[in-house]
Amino acid sequence: MSVFRVDSAILTGLEVQRIGVEVDVRRGLPNFTVVGLAKDAVRESRDRVIAAIKNAGYEMPTMKVTVNLTPVTMKKASSHLDLPIAAGILIASRQIPPPPAGAVFLGELSLDGTLRPAAGVLALLDGLRDASAVVVPEGNLEEGRLLKETARRVPPIRGLAHLSGLVYPIEKLKSASGRRRRTPEPRDRHETDFSEIRGQHLARRAAEISAAGGHHLLLVGPPGTGKSMLAQRLPTILPPLSTQESLEVTKIYSVAGLLDETRRLTVRPFRAPHHTLSAVALIGGGPTSLPGEISLAHGGVLFLDEFPEFPRSCLESLRQPLEDRRVQISRAAAKVSYPADFVLICAMNPCPCGYLNHPTRACRCSAMDIRKYLNRVSGPILNRIDLHVELAAESPAVILSGASGESSDGILKRVRAARDRAVARNGGEDRVNARLRPSEVRALCPLSDECLAILQAALRKMNLSPRSLEKVIKVSRTISDLAGAADIQPEHILEAVRYRAMDQA
Ligand SMILES: [Zn+2]
Repeated sequence: MSVFRVDSAILTGLEVQRIGVEVDVRRGLPNFTVVGLAKDAVRESRDRVIAAIKNAGYEMPTMKVTVNLTPVTMKKASSHLDLPIAAGILIASRQIPPPPAGAVFLGELSLDGTLRPAAGVLALLDGLRDASAVVVPEGNLEEGRLLKETARRVPPIRGLAHLSGLVYPIEKLKSASGRRRRTPEPRDRHETDFSEIRGQHLARRAAEISAAGGHHLLLVGPPGTGKSMLAQRLPTILPPLSTQESLEVTKIYSVAGLLDETRRLTVRPFRAPHHTLSAVALIGGGPTSLPGEISLAHGGVLFLDEFPEFPRSCLESLRQPLEDRRVQISRAAAKVSYPADFVLICAMNPCPCGYLNHPTRACRCSAMDIRKYLNRVSGPILNRIDLHVELAAESPAVILSGASGESSDGILKRVRAARDRAVARNGGEDRVNARLRPSEVRALCPLSDECLAILQAALRKMNLSPRSLEKVIKVSRTISDLAGAADIQPEHILEAVRYRAMDQA
């Protein structure tokens, strides 16, 4: 009779939960039960474990085998538990030696005994830094190397290709930690640049303010005015992700199973989901609680082109994440949460046909059509967008002049300087102006009497909601940061008010 405990872990969202796999092998009627789990996913692992043990050349003990997963109260739905269950059985039945204390095992088994690379391993490893060692499927080994780029301690990580090789990493773990391999170069080059955008000074300026203060942006204009081009280039004027941010973004892609090249993502993500996507694909969820587009855009840009075409249910479901910069996905018993802190860029035509106020083409829409179209975007989401900009069709002279606009590098320099000012004012906390809380707006955005008078006039003229008013103040703060001014000046307020065009419509 023998009992052995193997350590493992599972993910709830990006949170790591340590799991104890206790294996009890004793004389009795041959039997294999797994206790302390609820989900079919883990039940199925019972069959995989038996087949893999046999196909790896070991024996499934002809005894009473009981596996107990702790904590028992938690529902477990992770196939990562195959390897620790198999290892526990092999150790408890004395077919392989026990691993050093504190070693953690993760991995899904195929019926033939090979270990399958799994989603989410990077997030798991990041939460297991206190482990004495971690054994993962060989296909996930690169993800472990990504962690070594961070300053914090990384335990020795061993890759395992097939269950038959399990003794080898255990022996290796007992000896010294192995040599360190070179990490592949992270990708940090953009393929697009702001210099490719001709004219559109107002929209370029709004993009710069958006990047400097993390402000959400709405672009309104006829087809062909470069709304998508502008949105796609916003990541090129955002400072690169810090190591910590980049690790967080890479973890989300790892959980989503989208980490095709195993390298750390350093470029800010740009996600442009089509308006036909489901609310689950946008927000996250489904049977396995995967992150949605809003979390894949974390740290970067979420671009919703043809904004009014998105179903109301999709837009409604954006409200809470826009507020909290995180998303909660409820599952039967557990709550899964993913970060979702992105700059939202929405683009739309001025009317259903697209040519309202166009200099050379006639609009075919009735006043009723236009009102209906605008009503689709009005309200809660529009209220949460800080900058509204109208793009006009540029004259042929501008387009044909061949003069290119300022490059992304030039704009990025000003964006960085403005962000540095905001960080210094926040007492060193790296938080963009768009994320200031109401109490901080009062403390960090003081307004002179002249500024207040301008705001009051705007309030009377434009019927601004309290939320819109707060946005105007935050945008003014960013404009003053870009100008290098210590205080918000009247001209900063005047410019910020100009970006509330949709509040008037
Ligand atoms: Zn029209």
